[in-house]
Amino acid sequence: MRANCWYGINDVRVTNVPDPTILNPRDAIVKITSTAICGSDLHLYDGFIPTMEKGDIIGHEFMGEIVELGSEVTNLKIGDRVVVPFPIACGHCFFCEEKLYSVCENSNPNAWMAEKMWGHSPSGIFGYSHLTGGYAGGQAEYARVPYADVGPIKVPDGMTDEQVLFLSDILPTGYMAAEACEIKPGHVVAVWGCGPVGQFAMQSAYLLGAERVIAIDRVPARLRMARDICKAEPLDYAQVDVAEALKQMTGGRGPDACIDAVGLEAHGMGVVGVYDKVKAAMMMQTDRPTALREALMACRNGGVVSVPGVYGGFLDKIPFGSIMNRSLTIKTGQTHVQRYMQPLLERIQNGELDPTFVITHRMSLEEAPLAYEIFKKKQDECIKVVLKP
Ligand code: NAD
Ligand code: ZN
Ligand code: ZN
Repeated sequence: MRANCWYGINDVRVTNVPDPTILNPRDAIVKITSTAICGSDLHLYDGFIPTMEKGDIIGHEFMGEIVELGSEVTNLKIGDRVVVPFPIACGHCFFCEEKLYSVCENSNPNAWMAEKMWGHSPSGIFGYSHLTGGYAGGQAEYARVPYADVGPIKVPDGMTDEQVLFLSDILPTGYMAAEACEIKPGHVVAVWGCGPVGQFAMQSAYLLGAERVIAIDRVPARLRMARDICKAEPLDYAQVDVAEALKQMTGGRGPDACIDAVGLEAHGMGVVGVYDKVKAAMMMQTDRPTALREALMACRNGGVVSVPGVYGGFLDKIPFGSIMNRSLTIKTGQTHVQRYMQPLLERIQNGELDPTFVITHRMSLEEAPLAYEIFKKKQDECIKVVLKP
C-alpha cells in the first residue's frame, strides 16, 4: 500500500510499504477514506518528538471502511464506516474504566521508554513515535486498529467524511480543553493559538456557556476565522502587548480561564523568544513554552489554565510562584477522545456543531509532502488539510 512516512526533519515521503494484517483477535483493518494533518504532526516534522525512526508511517486522524476483522470484534461488520480515535485504549484497564483513555495502561508496548522520560507511560498513539508504541499511523491506504471493539465509532448513514473526521482528535481536543475551564455564566475565556484546535476550543467555550472568548494569534486568516466563525474577539500578538490587552479587556482582573492551544513550538516575541529559540537549538530545553508562560501570567486569580497544546519534556522559566500564590489550576492531557466521540457526534447531527469550517485544503495522499509544507508555513491561508488516499 501507499503511506506517508517520516524520514527526518522536514522530510516525509509517500512510499510503498507492506499492507497491515490482523495481529490480534481484537484488531480491525480499516481502508482509509479520509485522513488529516494535525498540529501534532508538525512537532514530528520539525523533529521535536524523540524516538522517531526513518520509515515510520505517521498520521493519527483517520477514518474509513472496515475490510477485515479479528475474531473477537463482534460489534462491527465488514463494510462499516468508522472514525478511529487517536489514543489506543483497551477499554477495560483501571484508567479506561475511569474514562482516562489516553493513559490506558495496556496499549503502549514501549512503556519502558516513556517511563524513563515521564515517570509513567501514557497510552499508545497511532503514528506518533516509538515512545508511544511505534504504531503505524493513518496517513496511508490502510491501518491496523487495535482494540477495534471499543475505540472506533460507527458513522450514521448520510453523514459525510468531512462532517465526522475530526471526531478522531481535534474536535474532542478543543472540547475537552474548554470543558476543563469549568466555565460559569459571565466567564471570559482567552485562547492562545487559532489553529484548528484553538478554533474548536473557542466554539466549545461558547457552547459551554462562556460570555466572551478572546482569540490570540498573529496569522491574519486564522484570526479572521476566529472572529467571523467562532465569534471571538481577536488579538494579534505581533501588534499588541497581550498581557496588557487582556487586562484592559477584563477590567484589570484577567480572563477567568486561559487555553494554550499552541504547544511546544510557540513562536516567541522579543528577548524571551530569542532565549527559547537558542536554548532549544542547543538542546538545553526540549520545548518553547512562550504561550504557556503568557497564559499562566494572564489568568485571573483562582482561574484555570487548560493546556491541550502538546509538550514533550522539560520546560524552562515556568512561573510556578505565580501558579502557587494565585491559586491557579492547570488541566492538561492528551485527549480522552473515546469519551467525547458519541456526544459530539450527536451535536454534529443536531446542527449545534459543524466542524467542516476549518478545512481549507483538500489534497491527495500522494501530495502529503507538499501538504506538510503548506500547513507548516501557513501558506495559502492554510488552516486544515484533509488528504484522500
Ligand atoms: P497549529 O500549528 O495549526 O496551530 C497553532 C497556532 O498557534 C498557529 O496558528 C500559530 O500561529 C499559533 N501561535 C504560535 N505561537 C503563538 C503564540 N506565542 N501566541 C499565540 N499563538 C501562537 O496546530 P493545531 O492543530 O491547532 O494544534 C495546536 C496544539 O494542540 C499543538 O501543540 C498540537 O500538538 C496540540 N494537540 C493536542 C492534542 C491533545 O490531545 N492534547 C490533540 C491535537 C493537537
Ligand atoms: Zn492530533
Ligand atoms: Zn486501558
